[in-house]
Amino acid sequence: MDTSNKWFSLHGKTALITGARTGIGQAIAVGLAKAGAKVVLVGHRDNMQDTELKVEQLGGSYETFLMDLSKVEEVKGKCEEILASLSIDIVVNNAGIIRREPAVSHSLEDWQAAMDTNINSVFLLCQAFAKPMLEREKGKIINIASLLSFQGGITVPGYAASKHAIAGLTKALANEWGASGIQVNAIAPGYIATNNTEALRNNEERNASILSRIPAGRWGKPDDLVGAAVFLASDASDYVNGHVLMVDGGWMAR
Ligand code: NAP
Repeated sequence: MDTSNKWFSLHGKTALITGARTGIGQAIAVGLAKAGAKVVLVGHRDNMQDTELKVEQLGGSYETFLMDLSKVEEVKGKCEEILASLSIDIVVNNAGIIRREPAVSHSLEDWQAAMDTNINSVFLLCQAFAKPMLEREKGKIINIASLLSFQGGITVPGYAASKHAIAGLTKALANEWGASGIQVNAIAPGYIATNNTEALRNNEERNASILSRIPAGRWGKPDDLVGAAVFLASDASDYVNGHVLMVDGGWMAR
């Protein structure tokens, strides 16, 4: 019996993950390393040690790069720096921010910050890393969407707009690049206990209301996203393209 589990193996692959310092990005980076990938950890602060240590403990290999995704004008150059020394097979566009403020007083600055980090930079990263993938006719791009790629959310208009755009961009790129062996998919996490949702969990009323709608009966953990990420990064998903995969404990089914 062949026990190599080649469908989901990422041995020999290099995966770049943005926002790999914390939360979902850290869990996905460690999960892809566990599946055999070399991981390229991208963050905007020089403090990736926790993730680096977790990868090291698995016997995995990594490189770390600094890139501030809120500075869209710097993104192309930073990607070129990475591509000068590395061939990237898998890109996980995970980094994101959320600004909570009612729509009527939501500042243009907050709107712009969410758009720059959550969608404008993602477009530039997809463009930059897809070029060599198109030449090789193979590659995987995974964008981290949200339930707010489908719903409006509460007091987060910039975030909701940026995450709806992630779903649209994912499908647009899947259409253009599918015939060239590149799959572009997205993962829409449900309510996951990370820094991003700390304010919600600290609000007793919102916390109870959110929990009451999750069929799984609990908040998600960053590790809950790893299976979907490994699947979409591996050969097992070669005929899956333009899909937004909800990993939400059943939230959208309710
Ligand atoms: P998180 O722990 O706050 O992770 C966000 C990551 O993005 C952090 O590592 C952060 O780095 C990085 N980041 C922020 N601004 C950046 C910038 N300008 N340049 C580079 N990196 C930047 O929260 P998370 O929940 O894991 O979020 C990860 C993704 O999942 C986000 O796209 C988020 O929208 C999405 N998501 C989360 C949930 C949820 O329930 N948690 C649900 C749906 C979607 P620093 O910490 O160093 O600033």
